[in-house]
Amino acid sequence: MIVDLRSDTVTKPTPGMLEAMWSAKVGDDVFGEDESINELEAKAAKTFGMEAGIFCPSGTMTNQIAIKCFTQPLDELIADQTAHVYRYEGGGIAFNSGVSTRLLNGYRGIITAEMIEPEINAENIHFPRTSLVVLENTVNKGGGSCYTLGQIKPIAALCKAKGLKLHLDGARIFNALAHTGDKAADYGKYFDGISVCLSKGLGAPVGSVFLADRETIKYARRIRKVFGGGMRQAGFLAAAGTYALDHHVERLKVDHVHAQILAEALAKCPWVSAVMPAETNLVLFDTVEPAAIVSQKLAEHGIKALPTAANRIRFVLHLDVHPEQVEYVVKVLSTEF
Ligand SMILES: *Cc1c(COP(=O)(O)O)cnc(C)c1O
Repeated sequence: MIVDLRSDTVTKPTPGMLEAMWSAKVGDDVFGEDESINELEAKAAKTFGMEAGIFCPSGTMTNQIAIKCFTQPLDELIADQTAHVYRYEGGGIAFNSGVSTRLLNGYRGIITAEMIEPEINAENIHFPRTSLVVLENTVNKGGGSCYTLGQIKPIAALCKAKGLKLHLDGARIFNALAHTGDKAADYGKYFDGISVCLSKGLGAPVGSVFLADRETIKYARRIRKVFGGGMRQAGFLAAAGTYALDHHVERLKVDHVHAQILAEALAKCPWVSAVMPAETNLVLFDTVEPAAIVSQKLAEHGIKALPTAANRIRFVLHLDVHPEQVEYVVKVLSTEF
């Protein structure tokens, strides 16, 4: 048996999703004429209580467009040191927006208003102008750790008081909502921008949407064109995203249960030195032997997983990991290998 726990991006479209893609109504989206894209953008915006949305090829693009929309060159943004926008977007903050980054040391990637406030630069020609705070929910490098809206509210209030924009990298926002029980529609009250990935746990083959007010999205269309992300009959892809929003959100809870089961099984393994609490669909664990050796042994049993540090491995649950595969992994973990 092969169990692919490397990433929630490895999923393949389901038959229902393929059917929705096959029958999508499309047009030239650069002319604003793709019905399926317009439908997805409106639906996603409404879901999060935002005015408008823009469909993009990737979450990297939605984040980079957001940063470009919310800053001017020479500005500075604040984010946790684990942030995807900083670590995994190729230095795009500096390249695309000419912006510097102030990094904080959050707990599992979660930062607070108290941590942010002293890092906001005073008005002084020596200092970059702080103009944006970026949060990630769930936090990828934090092992799927979550902010509750209760934790976000004081950060939003601080940003408002100091005239800063607040952006959410919500690549896995639906996982956070499934865990916290917060309502998606309330998010629009606190964030100026939200990126939502459709190709992670939601299982669409491609795509992410950036949500904000109408003015910001109008400008975002200009930036997307410059970044080379203006697509034409991409409604075939958007239809997969709409299908995912309709059919794959509820089931994320299943991935979280699977993550719990694997975390418990790992905690019993003598070759595992620590397991991070599995709040959502990611399980991070530390290994006694080098992670490269352990992941090789796992691979010999058909279990694919990525080392994320010298002694750390990540398991990621998603819609193509079925209960019998989770049982199989537990069985492998419980026997010596
Ligand atoms: C995956 C991911 C993204 C977007 O990545 P793409 O591969 O460009 O779609 C953004 N933020 C986080 C936290 C992610 O995990």
